[in-house]
Amino acid sequence: MPYTELNLDLTEEHRLIKREVHDFAVEVLRPASLELDKMSPEDVTRKGSPYWQCMAQAYRNNYHTVLISDEYGGLGLDPLGVHIFWEELSYGSVGFAVSLGCSCFSSFYATLLCDDYLIEKFVLPFVNCKDASVMSCWGITEPAHGSDNLMTGTPFFRDPCACQEVRAVKKRGKWVLNGQKSAWVSNGPIASDAALFVNLDPGMGFAGGGIALVDLNQKGISRGKPLNKMGQRELPQGEIFFDDAVCPDEHMIIDPESYEAITELTLGHANATMGAYFTGVAQAAYDMAMEYSRDRVQGGKPLCQHQMVQSRLFDMFIAIETARAFSRSAMVFNMNTTPPLVQYSIASKVYCTEAAFKVTSEAVQLFGGHGLTKDAPVEKLFRDARAGMIEDGSNDSLSLAAGEMLLREVQ
Ligand SMILES: Cc1cc2nc3c(=O)[nH]c(=O)nc-3n(C[C@H](O)[C@H](O)[C@H](O)COP(=O)(O)OP(=O)(O)OC[C@H]3O[C@@H](n4cnc5c(N)ncnc54)[C@H](O)[C@@H]3O)c2cc1C
Repeated sequence: MPYTELNLDLTEEHRLIKREVHDFAVEVLRPASLELDKMSPEDVTRKGSPYWQCMAQAYRNNYHTVLISDEYGGLGLDPLGVHIFWEELSYGSVGFAVSLGCSCFSSFYATLLCDDYLIEKFVLPFVNCKDASVMSCWGITEPAHGSDNLMTGTPFFRDPCACQEVRAVKKRGKWVLNGQKSAWVSNGPIASDAALFVNLDPGMGFAGGGIALVDLNQKGISRGKPLNKMGQRELPQGEIFFDDAVCPDEHMIIDPESYEAITELTLGHANATMGAYFTGVAQAAYDMAMEYSRDRVQGGKPLCQHQMVQSRLFDMFIAIETARAFSRSAMVFNMNTTPPLVQYSIASKVYCTEAAFKVTSEAVQLFGGHGLTKDAPVEKLFRDARAGMIEDGSNDSLSLAAGEMLLREVQ
């Protein structure tokens, strides 16, 4: 039984979306994610699997258009509504929430640039898709470049000692792409297109990058085996290889002039979303722990009647409420601010993923031995939360980048 949240300033529309997405997450996504958790990554990605059934249902509900305005047929939610949407979806399954979030990547850039051609090409087919066959991904991480891809604002980002290894070279009016993105690309094995972060000018280091919107169903592109990992197993991830693949000139949407700023803006948006995702994960673990502590009897009374259990639940409650209040503020502020103050989004990501890790770990502790078994859903939440501290940038390296941003602001 969820407790009464501090839902200040929610409109009737916010309450409606909260209830609707919560019910979908609990009734559809959570049972499917528990089933997918036990399956091999190949079976998860196979057509007709519970993954595809749930994604198709989410698309039919128009949930894939959460970041698209109603002008183009999207859900048209305000920033607080977007936060509520992601938090509630992740309450049922953070892996599905990440997959749906990544499916928006190309259309996010197309709407950001307000370019009619790109909207026609990337937004409308995505909005009109009802079976999840139009799906994007964020191709940034490479086997040799993880954290360093995201160190915007630091001197290292502009140092020619290192740069993205997926190269785009212009030949006869088209961009030719070569190289490999790592197995960590969410939706990598199944996406129909990618927002691909490439290098255009190695002499500028990472700052010499560009962003290309690339059709992944073309000659010259192949995929690796879906990744077998510890947490968020319902989320398909895998390598993408580029061997003389091509991209029309109009699809190279960002060049070195704005690459660092757009990478930072992307991080600002993605990390704020991570704050919302992991508040949902923490809330789910708390609710399960509370329910279990009321049912399980030890020492002649329910666990929740023992003072130390009450104290543990209260600490979990503080962590969740702080995560929710801060991540809502960070997302609302940064979705309304250009350019965003990315340090707030990073702070939200770091704080909320660590809060989720703490809360899910405490939930496992409260379940006792049962919490370590595959029959207890908190065991999965604990693994899902652990992945969050590395996903979208490891918390350590994001903190280094954010530290530089704090200094930049006062110079
Ligand atoms: C669930 C999940 C989903 C993901 N989804 C995507 C996706 O959709 N698209 C995509 O492209 N990528 C994705 N990633 C990749 C993710 O962004 C990278 O894993 C992350 O940036 C870290 O890179 P890495 O794994 O190569 O670790 P590394 O960069 O090799 O880091 C290893 C360790 O060294 C530390 N470290 C690195 N550099 C420094 C430094 N300068 N100073 C101090 N310590 C340092 C790190 O903090 C970390 O602890 C995902 C990852 C996960 C776990």
